[in-house]
Amino acid sequence: MAGLGYEIDFLPVGNGDKSGDAIAVRYGEPGDYKVMVVDGGTKESGQALVDHIKEHYGTTHVDYVVNTHPDADHASGLEVVLEQLTVGEVWVHRPWEYAEEIRHWFKDGRITDESLAERLKDLLSHAYRLEEIATEMGIPVYEPYAGSKIGDFHVLSPALDWYLELVPQFNKTPVTKTASLAEALKSYGLRALEKVASWVDEYWHIETLSEDGETSCENESSVVLYANFAGRGVLLTGDAGIQALGKAVDQAISLGFDLTASGFIQVPHHGSRRNVSPSILNRIVGPKVAHGSTPTKTAFVSASKASKTHPRRVVTNAFLRRGASVHQTKGQSKRHSHNMPERAGWITSTPVPFHTQVEGD
Ligand SMILES: [Zn+2]
Repeated sequence: MAGLGYEIDFLPVGNGDKSGDAIAVRYGEPGDYKVMVVDGGTKESGQALVDHIKEHYGTTHVDYVVNTHPDADHASGLEVVLEQLTVGEVWVHRPWEYAEEIRHWFKDGRITDESLAERLKDLLSHAYRLEEIATEMGIPVYEPYAGSKIGDFHVLSPALDWYLELVPQFNKTPVTKTASLAEALKSYGLRALEKVASWVDEYWHIETLSEDGETSCENESSVVLYANFAGRGVLLTGDAGIQALGKAVDQAISLGFDLTASGFIQVPHHGSRRNVSPSILNRIVGPKVAHGSTPTKTAFVSASKASKTHPRRVVTNAFLRRGASVHQTKGQSKRHSHNMPERAGWITSTPVPFHTQVEGD
């Protein structure tokens, strides 16, 4: 069937308990499709993206490669995409270009613009590597800030001025320290922090999701993308948190878009309960609906197979309550499509059910 269509593929990332994103998007009309890759996960999932695009999109060309934020489990797979496919444009934040603007945030008076730029390249080496490869290969590099357009997608967040406030706080926030502690404990074989200690009851009309979740500044710096394909929205959120999502809604409104209209939405940060709240979900998914209503939206969550905390049930319940059907990767590829060619052999995904017990901590 001719006419505008789109498909969004979430590929699985890793088999450990760390989650990442590897997303391929194709949209347009037959004979005139655009291909976008948003994050590449690990090297392994980057290779899977390359194979997927060749096999299912029938091309070796990617129009847009986007890195939402510099975490290894989002950025490293993109190296493989850049090396093995032809790429039109690379979109990645380059904070080292703004050393002069952000230097005043640092207490150490001896720091120079040049040394700060070098430190940032080192700290955010996975993103810097993408710039290096793109430059070597002659691929133009652009930065995804609010107001930019990447093909048919609008960048809703972060705005450049807010991004420059986040950068000095990278790798320093209390949340990041907790995560590092969890990593340290894991190396001793202690996995207590991964376990869910207790359960609490939830009902359709009783929500226990907290209003005051906080995530790291790296996550908040995630690129939030939105496209509107003939009235159907597609919202990709990376690891964005409550602050970034709030700014994204404001930006969408200023562009004349209602994010709660029907369409597709990515559950941010692999379904972490720190990245969403009831009030932000009311603004990006929609108001609560009656139990048993037919879903009007589709939500995908990229969560590693072994993770006990991705996605949180309290989060998938919150999406279900707002009229979204939820699907999770957990080791499998998931496809959402509208008005696109059939894909032989792909079966319908089983949605995540509403859970009457959720994690209590
Ligand atoms: Zn992530």
